[in-house]
Amino acid sequence: MIRGMIGLGAHFDSDASGQLQLAREGGHSMARVVHHLDRTGEEIVRVLQARVRSSPNIEVIEPQRALDLLIEGEGPDRRSTGVRAMDLRSGDVVDHFASLVILATGGAGQVYERTTNPIGATGDGLAMAIRAHVQLRDMAFVQFHPTALHTTEPGPAFLISEAVRGAGARLLAPDGRPLMKAIHHMGDLAPRNVIARAIHREMQRTGAAHLWLDASPIGVSRFALEFPAIEKRCREIGLVPGRDWIPVVPGAHYMCGGILTDDRGRTSLNGLLALGECASTGLHGADRLASNSLLEALDHFPNALPEVAFPQCLITDHPDIKGPTARIGCREGHPPSRPVRWEPAARHVRPCRHHP
Ligand SMILES: Cc1cc2nc3c(=O)[nH]c(=O)nc-3n(C[C@H](O)[C@H](O)[C@H](O)COP(=O)(O)OP(=O)(O)OC[C@H]3O[C@@H](n4cnc5c(N)ncnc54)[C@H](O)[C@@H]3O)c2cc1C
Repeated sequence: MIRGMIGLGAHFDSDASGQLQLAREGGHSMARVVHHLDRTGEEIVRVLQARVRSSPNIEVIEPQRALDLLIEGEGPDRRSTGVRAMDLRSGDVVDHFASLVILATGGAGQVYERTTNPIGATGDGLAMAIRAHVQLRDMAFVQFHPTALHTTEPGPAFLISEAVRGAGARLLAPDGRPLMKAIHHMGDLAPRNVIARAIHREMQRTGAAHLWLDASPIGVSRFALEFPAIEKRCREIGLVPGRDWIPVVPGAHYMCGGILTDDRGRTSLNGLLALGECASTGLHGADRLASNSLLEALDHFPNALPEVAFPQCLITDHPDIKGPTARIGCREGHPPSRPVRWEPAARHVRPCRHHP
């Protein structure tokens, strides 16, 4: 898969001998993440977007916003036949018909007060699926990233990558005490949910608006070399990472639940696939392991290819997928979850589900 991306023109960091460099992030017992400086996602999107735009058999229709799925038939014959969309320039509503529809609308971070997600992450695909009675799962499984940059500016919170802690940075309590050492045997590289909850608890206990990330073990020049985008953003607010402590808070980051699919992206509705963050494939638990979302997206698209090529075969035999009735549920052993509510109440949601 990675060789395939390199073949398409993606550049990943490598050493002098051409060996790919690997980074370590939260919950990892070893370095395992291929990267492009601190902008890996941007590099992947650059390559794939260019490929899409240069493919003569793909028509990109912009700027349009999908509003709802078009549905035909009843019972076992019920299927998705397209999408209704709004042209954002004219306001006109148009229907697009297709033998196969793929929802790939990403996450829902924007329903939370503080999120690392872009402004388009409003959970539209999830809402379209709910309205079409498509089965969803584990909607309470929202991952909070422990270290969003704390500022008072509106808009998506800037992410301080976990690779910074992988390179040696440490989380500090408001009084400068190392936070994670006494809490988890993996210290600053404990899984994200453990760290996000620890930060949240410390903020509640002390009344602090944020905690601190101390990157002095990395040093100013190495930080600038390995994390140029983070360095630039910190300098914009007057901080020199490696010298100054960086203010950090948890932010809603990744929707682990979503539209229930099998490993080929098939949903409970005929003619509808869901791929990427809007899908719940079963690969992640309640807390996604760092960098597994790009892995999942790249891994599941090839699985879905036979469905794209032969949409008439689109009938899933996945045992958890029961048919056309909507069911918003949780895996066995977990308490029942609720769908995200698209209202300001969600703005008060915090990284702890079971504790106030
Ligand atoms: C700051 C940040 C850093 C991350 N770093 C990593 C990382 O290092 N490794 C990793 O594995 N994962 C990372 N992730 C997670 C990963 O980027 C996402 O999970 C992944 O991009 C999801 O891909 P996607 O194609 O499903 O959705 P997206 O990339 O979110 O794309 C969804 C697209 O659908 C569009 N859309 C939404 N609704 C509609 C609508 N109604 N009509 C039309 N279009 C619509 C959106 O505008 C967007 O363009 C990171 C996420 C963030 C926010």
